[in-house]
Amino acid sequence: MPRTDNIAEYNGVWVFAEQRNNLLNPVVLELLREGKKLVKKLDTELTAVLLSHHADRLARELIDYGADKVIYLENELLCTYSTNIYTKLISNLVLENKPEIFLIGATHIGRDLAPRIAARINTGLTADCTSLDLDENRNLLQTRPAFGGNIMATIICPDHRPQMATIRPGVMEKAEKDTNNKGEIIKINPEISATESLVEVLDVIRKKAEFDITESDVIVAGGRGLRKAEGFKLLQSLAELLNGTIGASRAAVEAGWIDQSYQVGQTGKAVRPKIYIACGISGAIQHIAGMQDSKCIIAINKDPSAPIFKIADYGIVGDLYEVIPCLINKLKTLR
Ligand SMILES: Cc1cc2nc3c(=O)[nH]c(=O)nc-3n(C[C@H](O)[C@H](O)[C@H](O)COP(=O)(O)OP(=O)(O)OC[C@H]3O[C@@H](n4cnc5c(N)ncnc54)[C@H](O)[C@@H]3O)c2cc1C
Repeated sequence: MPRTDNIAEYNGVWVFAEQRNNLLNPVVLELLREGKKLVKKLDTELTAVLLSHHADRLARELIDYGADKVIYLENELLCTYSTNIYTKLISNLVLENKPEIFLIGATHIGRDLAPRIAARINTGLTADCTSLDLDENRNLLQTRPAFGGNIMATIICPDHRPQMATIRPGVMEKAEKDTNNKGEIIKINPEISATESLVEVLDVIRKKAEFDITESDVIVAGGRGLRKAEGFKLLQSLAELLNGTIGASRAAVEAGWIDQSYQVGQTGKAVRPKIYIACGISGAIQHIAGMQDSKCIIAINKDPSAPIFKIADYGIVGDLYEVIPCLINKLKTLR
């Protein structure tokens, strides 16, 4: 595809402020923190792009979390996500304003939206990035697991602007709120009609909220080494004593011992609790991708050469069915 001919005109870092029911998706705070780091290095501005209705409070919140500018497209039809309308409006905004970098959360909505925009504005997109950096030529170094997580690929987009990336939720740290932050809100009322959507949303059905393991400070995770579903009851007892929750490897999920919402790893959730206790988990790269940023990792495994010990702060070599009851008893006596 032909190169963007006026690359030097592109400036500023944008983040897509995904909202549902006028609540920001938590990944937006991660994008803002990451965006802030980039604008400092590039000496430019951080802009959040918000599409909604009656969302002045949200626009202000984006500034509290670090945006220098908020472009807020306000219309009743923008409350609920619509592929066609969002793509058209955001693509036009990008073409008019020429941001250098555009980050979008790799949520269901972000994964639908980002490739549409990238194709429309003729630029490159890296999906599901887990880390970002910059080279000396202002190229965004976009790193993501590739080939089933066996290698980390760093991808650049030197000839096209903006440089677009979707970012894996939960991997980056969240921006902190500071109500003293100053910023500008640019409110635009775009003209749109419902017929542009091509899709009519009849109803939005909310699944009963599952417990979100990413919110927990302590995770006691189990893998194939548990050998049976009942093993999670033992982990649950330990987790309860530590005010935590249980987690799982994909092997445990695939064995049908636990629901997928507990899965940690590249195709599960990315977590960063204060304590992560890996029980009967070998430490495959795809599992580690989702928990290596935990503050303290404790591994219990009967194989001393299990890769999990390479990243563990504390390791216990032993049968989890002997070790965990000892830990539980000890914790009870400490109470
Ligand atoms: C594209 C792709 C995506 C993937 N995504 C994920 C993902 O998101 N999350 C994920 O976890 N995996 C993922 N995987 C799978 C991953 O490669 C591993 O297969 C998986 O993590 C292995 O799970 P495990 O550690 O529980 O099992 P195993 O690797 O079988 O390890 C079991 C461990 O338990 C130990 N053990 C056995 N009995 C006991 C006992 N009694 N006491 C103590 N220790 C014991 C063994 O020594 C062993 O180390 C993915 C794979 C691919 C290809």
